[in-house]
Amino acid sequence: MAFDNLTQKLEEVFKSLKGKGKISEDDLKQALRQVRLALIEADVNLGVVKDFINRIKEKAIGEEVYGSLNPVQTVIKIVKDELTELLGGVQSGITISSKPPTVIMLVGLQGAGKTTTAGKLAVYLRKKGKHPMLVAADVYRPAAIKQLQVVGKQIDIPVFANETPGANPVDIARDAIAASTSMLKDVVIIDTAGRLAIDETLMTELVNIKQSVRPHEILLVVDAMIGQDAVQTAQTFNERLGIDGVVMTKLDGDAKGGAALSIKSVTGRPIKFMGTSEKMDGLEEFRPEGMASRILD
Ligand code: GDP
Repeated sequence: MAFDNLTQKLEEVFKSLKGKGKISEDDLKQALRQVRLALIEADVNLGVVKDFINRIKEKAIGEEVYGSLNPVQTVIKIVKDELTELLGGVQSGITISSKPPTVIMLVGLQGAGKTTTAGKLAVYLRKKGKHPMLVAADVYRPAAIKQLQVVGKQIDIPVFANETPGANPVDIARDAIAASTSMLKDVVIIDTAGRLAIDETLMTELVNIKQSVRPHEILLVVDAMIGQDAVQTAQTFNERLGIDGVVMTKLDGDAKGGAALSIKSVTGRPIKFMGTSEKMDGLEEFRPEGMASRILD
């Protein structure tokens, strides 16, 4: 990640001041410039970076970094704490309804990783003692239904689909929920259609599904590789549809991941999970603190 050597960079900044027992406010400014650059390099939204740096500055001054014995460690700790905060503080999981089935709707652009995440989420919930089923609500691409069926077979989770041409995704979702009881399933995971870009038709369809089935969780799946665009995507989906959380996929690649920092502060919605491989066990609960450490180490 772009932050890989932020700690190292900060150490260098302070090393160049060797001989001095304490650092000055000016030295701190230099260190914060490195933090700022690293954040921008990692695709963090400019406004977010500005607020972030200001908060760190205030804290650092409050803690009198330039009077402390180990200013590097102090600055790094402040940065890490603030990153954790920015990433959403305590991680929040899936809301399980007291009255089954719990309905989870996955939305997102095509290629973001919805279908893969649907499978991963089913595996994750099964491990927690739930009995999930998958629903193919992308009726436009026959390949999409097929793909979900392949995933379902691979992980041994039933897939509800209707391959009749012209089938309506709202009806499919409703039928699936109605069928869940006789199928003895307590979690219904709906894989919806995606488009290459956000458009009216897609949003209207998703809003219709939402209004009809009232999901307990609407999770937006975003690809970490698209950087700042992920923030824009999250903002638009949240405004138009309302989302409960975000799954950020492909964090196993060399994605900068900085979008994770901006999503929470821009949309107010937490990142709940991250995708860390193409495999069905490659889904992890998002831990702000873990991510912040990863960013700094
Ligand atoms: P959808 O169009 O949103 O349903 O996206 P897919 O589930 O088909 O995923 C698109 C591609 O991204 C596929 O090749 C997946 O294997 C891949 N993919 C999804 N999630 C991850 C992830 O967390 N890590 C990696 N490396 N690849 C992923």
